[in-house]
Amino acid sequence: MSAAEEKNALALKALFGNDTLADRLTSTHIAVVLPPEALSASGRLLAEVLSDVLARLWPCINFHGAEADRMLAVALNAAQSGGGNGSGLQVRWAPPYDVVVAVGCDAPAGAGYTLRVGADGWDLAMGADAKCGDSVNPVGPAFAAAMAGAQVFHRVFQSELSGMAAEPFDSWHVDVRQLFGAAELEVADLDLGETHAFGVGAVTHGLMWVIEHWPAQASGALALVDQDKYGSSNGQRYAFMCPTDAGQMKVATMKNRLEAAHPQLTVTDHPTDLNSYCAIRGFDRPLHRVIAGLDSAEARRHVAFKLPERTVNMWTAGERIGAGRYQPTHGGACLACDYLERADTQLDEVAELFQQTGVRPDLIRTLLDSGRGLSAEEAVTIASRWGTPADKFVGQPLRSVMPALCATGRLQMPNNPEVVDVPFAFASLFAGISGFMMLLKDLKGGDPSEGWTQHIFKRPTPFLLRALHTRSECVCCSTLSDLATNA
Ligand SMILES: [Zn+2]
Repeated sequence: MSAAEEKNALALKALFGNDTLADRLTSTHIAVVLPPEALSASGRLLAEVLSDVLARLWPCINFHGAEADRMLAVALNAAQSGGGNGSGLQVRWAPPYDVVVAVGCDAPAGAGYTLRVGADGWDLAMGADAKCGDSVNPVGPAFAAAMAGAQVFHRVFQSELSGMAAEPFDSWHVDVRQLFGAAELEVADLDLGETHAFGVGAVTHGLMWVIEHWPAQASGALALVDQDKYGSSNGQRYAFMCPTDAGQMKVATMKNRLEAAHPQLTVTDHPTDLNSYCAIRGFDRPLHRVIAGLDSAEARRHVAFKLPERTVNMWTAGERIGAGRYQPTHGGACLACDYLERADTQLDEVAELFQQTGVRPDLIRTLLDSGRGLSAEEAVTIASRWGTPADKFVGQPLRSVMPALCATGRLQMPNNPEVVDVPFAFASLFAGISGFMMLLKDLKGGDPSEGWTQHIFKRPTPFLLRALHTRSECVCCSTLSDLATNA
């Protein structure tokens, strides 16, 4: 191991609290192969998202091809925002590699296991014929990059993940619109009308990246509501977070990015929790459209209880991701229908968090209500429960610590009985792009509620799109029907 690799391994050990995993990440050599000529528009988008998403997890990546320097800069930004030093990221060609990702071109012979990936507009492809085209639509490229990021992880950890029965892709292509039953979608101006984004975390960052890069005009009024600042662990999961973002309010940074990309879009930032925001705004003012990028079932119920007219929801849970669209009319489900409180449990949120963290219930109530950061003692309690280092939790609000623990894949390492947590930047991005597709469908009006689920290591299929029906036991739906009757 070189001195630079040893430094990386030390940083990763501190991050994951697991030597075996840190060693595996550090000793895995990945190459991103770009064409010898300038990239096409889709190829550049794909390569940028791929470089970002890979460098948030893997410390040793070589870049090869005409635009290698540009992709190295993207990767360095990602690595450094996640606390890495970036020393293992280089423009270099030193085969063989453990995994090579070739962007719309062939990799030189003898390079190692190669995954060729391409995208053009709504299309993406894997395998020997995968190509990139001239479309500036970011959806196919971002989807392809998220899937390629997942496949790299699967290749390296295939023996640990063997129970998932995910087959290698070979040759495969798809129009993303088909997966979402929306062949009619096109690249056109987006009028978001009145839209609230509750939660500006990892999945919302994925969705907002697509809006930021949407090649047509975006307009309307978008309110960003989130009480948290960027913390030191966000950089491993938040697509396109920058090192300078640490310590900034998430809503303020995202507002600046979106307004720079879309001058016609009015973005307001609200550094507060959604309940306080809605209380001040007035519960009698209906919410038109909500984008829910939240971290718990409880927080989603809080949104649903505000009875928004329409909701786009995104989620990650280990190796599964998904997005849904809720329009509770004509028998369609509302957000609460999918997150009904389990009648067989006596636990409320405080009791659940007490079980998950070991922190005293009265302290949990204060932590949730005030949004204050965790004390060193509380951080140690949580860290010992989850088997992770405590220092990265100190000063972080409980609500941002829980998703860091939950939106990670749990991996069983060989010769090590403990299960370790791995931050999956590609999973959050995947959920965010799925959420964007649901948002596009919602903006078109469309049918009542539907949800889409995906296993991050398997081929996506349109069969995982299904209609979501209202549930008779849902208190929100019965309230909505009473309101409609009395109107
Ligand atoms: Zn409902």
